[in-house]
Amino acid sequence: MASIFTKIIQGQIPAHVVAENDRFIAFLDINPLAKGHTLVIPKKEIDYIFDLEDELLADLMLFAKKVGKKIQKVVPCNRIGVSVIGLEVPHAHIHLIPINGINDMNFAKPKLNLSKEEMAEITQQIKKA
Ligand code: AMP
Repeated sequence: MASIFTKIIQGQIPAHVVAENDRFIAFLDINPLAKGHTLVIPKKEIDYIFDLEDELLADLMLFAKKVGKKIQKVVPCNRIGVSVIGLEVPHAHIHLIPINGINDMNFAKPKLNLSKEEMAEITQQIKKA
């Protein structure tokens, strides 16, 4: 069965897409730790990030770098934290999270509850950056 992220790629379920090309897509995390928390994924559905071919993994990271720089332009923060967890969705993804300190990367923390409007607004800002 297709992963929930493949369904996003195929347009079967909605997402706040901030960047996309033929091989990668980045969209806002639906349960963000911070405003601008973004997931960057390869369109090829592979569960474990270290199972990606070398070139795809390297290019995924370069794509994440571009997206991270855009996020940093619009979300005031010290830097963009980069994390890979992958325990919930079996489709490789990189978390990009605006952070000011180590606690901002704590995935056990309660998630933010942003409105659709706030998610749409931050999406537009990142896209334009
Ligand atoms: P993990 O696999 O542990 O890295 O966690 C998966 C992440 O995907 C979590 O932070 C979820 O909030 C996020 N997520 C799950 N479903 C969606 C979705 N439909 N759109 C955006 N983010 C999602």
